[in-house]
Amino acid sequence: MEEAKPLLKKLKIYSLLDLALIVPVSYSDTTISKEINPGKIHTLDARVSAVKSHNGKLMVTFFLPNFNQSIQSMFFRVTPYHYQTFAMGSEHIIQGKVELFRNNLQMNQPKSIREAGKITPKYKSVLKQEDIRTLMRTYLSEKSLIDKGLLPQEAKSLMALHFPDTLDRIYLEGNYRPEILQVLKIIEAFNHIQKLSGKKIIHPAVEALKGDISDFVKQLPFELTDEQKQVIKVIGSDLGSRSKAAKRMIVGDVGSGKTMVILASAMMAIPHKSILMAPTSLLAIQLHEEAVKHLPKTVKVALVMQGKEEGDYLEADFIIGTHALLYKEDLPRAVLVMVDEQHRFGTTQRQMLESIASWEGENGDHEKRAHFLQFSATPIPRTQAMMNSALLDVSLITKTPFEKKITTEVIGKSHFPALLSHIKEEIAQNHQVLIVYPLVEESETIDYQSLAESRGFWESRFDNVYVTHGKDKHKEEVLMDFRKQGDILLATTVVEVGISLPRLTLIVIVGAERLGLATLHQLRGRVGRLGLESWCYLFTRNETNKRLEAFKKTTNGFDIASLDLKFRDGGDILDGTMQSGQKFKWLDMGEDEEIVAMAKRRVKN
Ligand code: ADP
Ligand code: MG
Repeated sequence: MEEAKPLLKKLKIYSLLDLALIVPVSYSDTTISKEINPGKIHTLDARVSAVKSHNGKLMVTFFLPNFNQSIQSMFFRVTPYHYQTFAMGSEHIIQGKVELFRNNLQMNQPKSIREAGKITPKYKSVLKQEDIRTLMRTYLSEKSLIDKGLLPQEAKSLMALHFPDTLDRIYLEGNYRPEILQVLKIIEAFNHIQKLSGKKIIHPAVEALKGDISDFVKQLPFELTDEQKQVIKVIGSDLGSRSKAAKRMIVGDVGSGKTMVILASAMMAIPHKSILMAPTSLLAIQLHEEAVKHLPKTVKVALVMQGKEEGDYLEADFIIGTHALLYKEDLPRAVLVMVDEQHRFGTTQRQMLESIASWEGENGDHEKRAHFLQFSATPIPRTQAMMNSALLDVSLITKTPFEKKITTEVIGKSHFPALLSHIKEEIAQNHQVLIVYPLVEESETIDYQSLAESRGFWESRFDNVYVTHGKDKHKEEVLMDFRKQGDILLATTVVEVGISLPRLTLIVIVGAERLGLATLHQLRGRVGRLGLESWCYLFTRNETNKRLEAFKKTTNGFDIASLDLKFRDGGDILDGTMQSGQKFKWLDMGEDEEIVAMAKRRVKN
């Protein structure tokens, strides 16, 4: 594709398959019709058998030799050209929509076309039709497509789309034939995955890590789940490699027990150093507490935050901190770098973090990297995970250590008194309640009360009501105090309560239909973290919402991620948490798991 390179780049065509996937949006078909179906466009051999002029209109009768019958045509805007062209006895190939009028065939304003039996593809492109057709003719062939990894049958289907003999091979009742659509989906997935894996860079590791985790595992107060064990095992083999620095993302629902995986990984790094970064001080503190509690006492753990430090990070085996870590000039080199809740870091912070993981070699080798593990609580659809894994390794933790007993209910105004008494019951049992409002201040555009408007109501009826929101400078303190002694927390969705609130058993989400399912799922994940029976009330003015009904039925984050895709058009107004990533033209990321898996297997690594 050398000579056409600048042009192709402009069209965002980087591979032969990119080009092949620009398929015609329609075709002009001049194949002579074999039968007549009123209501459809036809191309017919015809001979003018009568011409009449009437009120400035021209009425032509054509005889159709193939059908031994006649068809009437009316021309409305008549020019001398029409009289000339449709002279008595002249022969034509006419094209237009055939209709039945009082049992007579009609084709108004037919075109007289020059050449029959041609199917010409029409592309949607900034290029001239002729130019894009030339591109296709030049580069696409069964052989060139097979050379790019397509199966012969797939290559044939794509060729049929670009250079059709008959449209029957392509369409069935106006839609793509299932087998054609299937091919487009597979090739789209295959092409995407192939490109991603082309971007994957493999760096040698600084060290092969083989630390023993058995002491750590033995003294845990519980047995690790099968999935935890499995992920730890995979990480073990990642970290054990010197030729390849690990680059893995571990995705697991809130409460799926990722911290244990983090601690096990830190154990494997011993006697070398590892670093763990968390998005907030609360989370860093919590991780530090858990590390101190669960790791053997011989492991030196340090905490680094802005204005607060614990332990000597220069000496520590395991350094836990917030982004304050990024500004420590004397931060020791670590052979393992981890990020918790990576979805909550901005791009710049992620890049800075990666720079901690890259070692500038002592003797000019810039190649080596620390092993790098990212943990995320934003479930992505399995299809997305499979695709991403072409670029970096992905592990999923799909189950929580204990079955969460959460009842989800969609409620409206009429349920409010019942809700109030339920809230009182929970508080009476020393449980906590979280009420999430769509907005901080009153708004004209949203038909729900804001945090500011409702605050008074709760404060006048309950004790120990805490209030915070995303822009609140003191939110971490408020959350800490609430965790200790609060009954009710009023907050907005932007407050990411990453810390665990073990006594939280009831959450009310006001205006739930305005939120994406991924966000609702994150919010619902706050309750019942330690297995206490819990409730999630979705308060809405639209109680017959299909999305909310579907959401009610499952608590599995990966299923919800797929549902979220399915309901995408339902309007995820406030949702910024889903990494929807690439938009696909034919692939349905919610449904086409099999296809993505198939495409994945075919990309040779
Ligand atoms: P995540 O970080 O994935 O949201 P955590 O690591 O905070 O989840 O774990 C949630 C809770 O489950 C914690 O209280 C943790 O101690 C507990 N936990 C983790 N693994 C297990 C297990 N295998 N069995 C029982 N409880 C576990
Ligand atoms: Mg966690």
